[in-house]
Amino acid sequence: MNIDKLVRRNIERLKPYSSARDDYSGSTGIFMDANENPYDTGYNRYPDPYQEELKKRIATEKGVDPGKIFLGNGSDEVIDLLQRAYCEPTQDNILICPPTYGMYRVCADVNNVPVKKVPLTEEFNLDVKALKSIRDSLSKLLFLCSPNNPTGNDMTPEKVLEVTRDFPGLVVVDEAYIDFSGRSSYLSDLEEYPNLVVMQTFSKAWGMAAIRLGMAFADERVIRVLNKIKPPYNVNLATQELAFTALREKEAKEQRVARILEERKKLVEKLEASSWVDKVFPSDANFLLVRFKEARKILLTLIEHGVIVRDRSELILCNDCLRITVGTPEENERLLEVLGTLEEKDKLVE
Ligand SMILES: *Cc1c(COP(=O)(O)O)cnc(C)c1O
Repeated sequence: MNIDKLVRRNIERLKPYSSARDDYSGSTGIFMDANENPYDTGYNRYPDPYQEELKKRIATEKGVDPGKIFLGNGSDEVIDLLQRAYCEPTQDNILICPPTYGMYRVCADVNNVPVKKVPLTEEFNLDVKALKSIRDSLSKLLFLCSPNNPTGNDMTPEKVLEVTRDFPGLVVVDEAYIDFSGRSSYLSDLEEYPNLVVMQTFSKAWGMAAIRLGMAFADERVIRVLNKIKPPYNVNLATQELAFTALREKEAKEQRVARILEERKKLVEKLEASSWVDKVFPSDANFLLVRFKEARKILLTLIEHGVIVRDRSELILCNDCLRITVGTPEENERLLEVLGTLEEKDKLVE
């Protein structure tokens, strides 16, 4: 496959915006080229558009060449840029496997890109046969989420790689929850699969959702395309600084992840013991998908007691399911307490 051929013609031809920092990127001198304020506030200068220092640091952390890294204003920006770079509106299509993360579809709708849906199997795994029969020569992107949101499980790696091997476009594996999974990342498969894009984020395991920092790892040819069309200063300096701090405090992050995993295990056991619970689906993430006897009523009762969970019962294969994020021990205890009260009194919000 020729990766350069996948990109939209207008993007291929595009002469990108050139910022003052593109023309001169040295760090010493008198800077009168960008209409910045000359007085130092700590933030008076535009940030490095390509975040070179941060990428070097992330490259070390992930064992990936800096040239294979793209940083975005959250993974959500990466999802949007990929679609705008590779999908000709109303012509090319993307593939998604519902139930899955909603942004792939929303971005496609905003960009007027047709979406082909290949539902997961009953076990929430990839339907390889269906994927292969539904894709066509205009399928530019396949979004796979593993561990998947909202189901929580990892897809079988052999299936993911089998689909990637002969997919006619890019396969984007969203690894937002990888740190909560026992499986190793697909980063190690980038060399072998040039059409593979791996997305990760600072929003979940790193505990930095507010700074909006998403990562994409891919072949240099893909990274160059994303760099070409991104807003020049899409990752602000405060975010870059806070990402450095988070990376420096990696041990604290690992402790938090370990605590969440411990709590996940406890929560599974206690939920399974509840008479309101039909099924707790296996989770490789920091949340649980739980099928209740009467999900809607449980949801409303929880909210009434100040415990907010996500109703996923409208999604395909998720009837009567709520998605519950693993909280602190106290928070999880409170959730179980409310469920327990329900059991005693058999009292539900009408
Ligand atoms: C939370 C989440 C993200 C994170 O998105 P950001 O924009 O980086 O905060 C990405 N993908 C999935 C599937 C998620 O659940």
